[in-house]
Amino acid sequence: MDLLQPQHRIYVAGHSGLVGSAIWRALAAAGYDNLIGRRSGELDLRDHDAVDAFIQRHQPDAVVLAAAKVGGIAANSEHPVEFISDNLRIQTAVLDAALKHRIPRVLFLGSSCIYPKLAAQPINEDALLTGPLEPTNRAYALAKIAGIVQVQSVRSEYGLPWISAMPTNLYGPGDNFDPEHSHVLPGLLRRFDEAARSGATEVVVWGTGSPRREFLHVDDLAEACVHLLRHYNDDTAINVGTGVDVTIKELAKNIAAVTGFTGSIVWDTSRPDGTPRKLLDVSRIKETGWSARISLDEGLASTYQWYESHRENLRG
Ligand code: GDP
Repeated sequence: MDLLQPQHRIYVAGHSGLVGSAIWRALAAAGYDNLIGRRSGELDLRDHDAVDAFIQRHQPDAVVLAAAKVGGIAANSEHPVEFISDNLRIQTAVLDAALKHRIPRVLFLGSSCIYPKLAAQPINEDALLTGPLEPTNRAYALAKIAGIVQVQSVRSEYGLPWISAMPTNLYGPGDNFDPEHSHVLPGLLRRFDEAARSGATEVVVWGTGSPRREFLHVDDLAEACVHLLRHYNDDTAINVGTGVDVTIKELAKNIAAVTGFTGSIVWDTSRPDGTPRKLLDVSRIKETGWSARISLDEGLASTYQWYESHRENLRG
């Protein structure tokens, strides 16, 4: 059964961000051209009443909640209040309005960091809420867990076919390349590129290099979201990943190669490693007929190309 019709009006909350813009592109490419988006200057998603009025006015057939306050390990550790408060407010405002106006289809996006720090690898969906969280992003994770439970509660209490997806670490065009507050992949692309261009002899990378991470290109996530919106209707927040991970050391070497940096890598072990490993078990989404297509090598090369042509004009 296809739960999304070509004429459906779809509101993509957060349509100018890394994830939202990719979902917008994927929906448009698949022929859904009745899309709605608002920038944060036009609609503050933390404002419960404004969001309610917006949803009432537009009465979309589906809402994709891709708006969130996100950041890397440093940003999460330094500003936990924003990460819990903004995210709770954004998702409560959007989900409350969607329920009040009985929006039939909602896709909420969680994150792989909501799983317990020491979850068995690869992480199965059943690991949710079975152990303590990674302290560096506990505030963000708790907000996202609340969103997932809100979606499940709406399903059980009101019978609406709302769903959640759990993406692994994402990257791609339009990412935040801030040297201090971004995630590791864009942060390192920028640092290695700057070092390669200035002729620096070394680049500092945080931690020990031994943590393992799985990286999903945001265009793959976007295709997964369209697929799930069309065909998935289950209580379980479904994992979306590649099923393959690399060490931060391997990632740094790949990025050095892509950017043409030939100097040495220095590990700053005063910086936290975070969770030791975060690889999602993607067997459930594979069973629904979807798998990631963009390899890390391919995705790194195209993201670097994007970065090079937008270098002078980046956000963050
Ligand atoms: P996490 O997956 O939530 O831990 O988020 P990050 O993407 O911020 O970090 C992933 C891993 O990369 C952690 O072990 C970091 O210590 C490591 N890392 C190495 N260099 C950097 C860097 O320049 N920026 C960030 N954000 N992380 C880095």
